[in-house]
Amino acid sequence: MCRTAFLILIALLFSACTPIAQVAPISDMGAGTDTPTPTALWTVMPQSTVTAVLSRTPAPTRTKIPTIAPTLDPIRNTPPTLMLHRPNLKFDSLAFLKDFIALLKLNNMQVVTYRYIYEHPDITAIEKGKLFIITIDDIFLAYPIDKRVLEMIQALRDAGFPAVLGVVTETAYVDPRNAALLRELSDSGWEIATHTDNHVNLGRAEEASSKLVRNEVTISLDKIEKVTGVRPITLVLPEGNMVNNVNAIQQMGIYWIVGISDGNTYDVRDPIVYVGREGPYTNAGRTFKLMQDRFGF
Ligand SMILES: [Zn+2]
Repeated sequence: MCRTAFLILIALLFSACTPIAQVAPISDMGAGTDTPTPTALWTVMPQSTVTAVLSRTPAPTRTKIPTIAPTLDPIRNTPPTLMLHRPNLKFDSLAFLKDFIALLKLNNMQVVTYRYIYEHPDITAIEKGKLFIITIDDIFLAYPIDKRVLEMIQALRDAGFPAVLGVVTETAYVDPRNAALLRELSDSGWEIATHTDNHVNLGRAEEASSKLVRNEVTISLDKIEKVTGVRPITLVLPEGNMVNNVNAIQQMGIYWIVGISDGNTYDVRDPIVYVGREGPYTNAGRTFKLMQDRFGF
């Protein structure tokens, strides 16, 4: 009698559990299809009670799905780069720059520097077509910066845009206001690049002496580092004239050589890269369009 009672008890327990086990998969499958996880894992899972119950706690299974790391193309488009100088009688680069800043904002362009890209090399692949560089050449350490160039710098600061200044170091004297401003700009993310010690056409200088090229670059690097506390990694070529011995420039600690023509793409695997720039063309709108065609953004 005792064994019979035990068997009846077991039978009752099973009959009590069975309906729940049969209902569970139906409701769980419904819950699974409502969850927006379009992965292969969901479709290949056997529709048993156990897997249906497991699938209600999706977080652990999702983290197990292998992800493929994206491989970035080492050949990059050079970010469109605008080459500016101080205003003159023929061209009001201050008014031009103000119009251009408005265009950059309208097009949601991210204004960066060469150094920033050097420190964040993937950005030219990830933010392709959204980056922009502005350079202002011929800032002399020794002489007070032109009042309208100071206004150009202020317009960029007001916009929250950093820029690259091509600095000619020349004499041993440094104007103290220039030194203070360049240090302040450098500290706030601007880039102070060398534009050589005496604004020398390096391509021509190289024909005469490789030592002349080395002095023009390294003396200038020393002087700028003394002022800003940061040794430049960017050389803005006077007159855009490139040298033949690029290795010699690389050994001086330069990564970016900035000219004018060509250099629309570069290879991140190279130890030193040449990039080109575009000067202003009649007005901001036409220049922007020209740069879109050249740099492909
Ligand atoms: Zn120059």
